[in-house]
Amino acid sequence: MTFNPVLDGLKNYEAGKPIELVVRDYGIAPQDVIKLASNENPRGCSLGVLAAMQQESTRAHLYPDDSMYELKDGLASRFGVKKENVIIGAGSDQVIGFALHAKANPNQAILMAGVTFAMYEIYGKQTGATILKTPSKMHNLEDFKQMLATHKGAIGVLFLCLPNNPLGEALDADEVKLFLREVDPNILVVVDGAYQEYASYKDQTKALDPRALIEEFPNVLYLGTFSKAYGLGGMRCGYGIGEAGLIHTLHKLRPPFNITTLSLKAGIEALKDEGFVARCMEENFSEMKRYEAEARALGFDFIESYTNFITLEFPEGKIASKIAQSLLEKGIIIRDLSAYGMNAVRVTIGTPEQNSRFFENFKRVYC
Ligand SMILES: *Cc1c(COP(=O)(O)O)cnc(C)c1O
Repeated sequence: MTFNPVLDGLKNYEAGKPIELVVRDYGIAPQDVIKLASNENPRGCSLGVLAAMQQESTRAHLYPDDSMYELKDGLASRFGVKKENVIIGAGSDQVIGFALHAKANPNQAILMAGVTFAMYEIYGKQTGATILKTPSKMHNLEDFKQMLATHKGAIGVLFLCLPNNPLGEALDADEVKLFLREVDPNILVVVDGAYQEYASYKDQTKALDPRALIEEFPNVLYLGTFSKAYGLGGMRCGYGIGEAGLIHTLHKLRPPFNITTLSLKAGIEALKDEGFVARCMEENFSEMKRYEAEARALGFDFIESYTNFITLEFPEGKIASKIAQSLLEKGIIIRDLSAYGMNAVRVTIGTPEQNSRFFENFKRVYC
């Protein structure tokens, strides 16, 4: 059988290794495995969310409210926009898919940073579009401008992942705005804010305001998720915010009941407990300082991070893939970034106890 040729050579997304795999392959007890590979919230989610989901579980036989009225309403008031400006996805991943399938085609290119979230390329290639990456690994707006000029008229979609996964850098909101003013309004600019809660906690100058963005730029689609700061990765709930016409178009691609009854409830409740998020932010950045100190003490580089992970870059002679593998055998899952052409690993900031165990084992493996 032959398939759509755009799928030839398209790689499957490689998710962080699950705890179950380490249990099976290395015979380590599940409670001894630490997963610091997928940027999940190590503190779990708000207790209010858990209670609400438990209650909602008696409604598991019912389809969710497909209008997602309450969740859209919650997000709209949170961001000062209208419900018509909001679309819900099974993770913001799904909204990335909607955006690309709505806009990209085989005669166009999709522009992104040199090293950024893998799903942009995967969904992008599904549309047959060409993938263009800036020479700089991290977001460099001068690079983006240069590429826009070189490929004038050929770019359909542009991604800004701010803060960026897997490197952790962020940009000043003012610079982003100035840049967007120079972008052709027929280019769809997807601003992926999966880690915006972290960035705005650490440094207000990096905080992007979705409302201000979509008011000035009808070609911007802002993405957010409940998977990171809200600790709901397993519930698959994310959202897009954009000008009403853009959101209306994306809805044409949305499958019915695209998130579950429980996910919908979880999202609604999560927005009511900002205290939980604030406590997570505080612990995340105080724990991140321990990683920075460890890197300095052991003499390797790290990228300053505005997220819940940190990218550690090793000098020659220390091999990232080997370090990641040795840690895996000890039950600690991190992300090897060798596939991105970097001798680096990405480590999700865990709980204080998880981080202590990481350091203990890391020192043995590294030194
Ligand atoms: C985690 C992540 C997402 C979305 O995750 P979902 O679980 O699908 O909401 C989107 N973009 C980036 C950069 C991420 O790291």
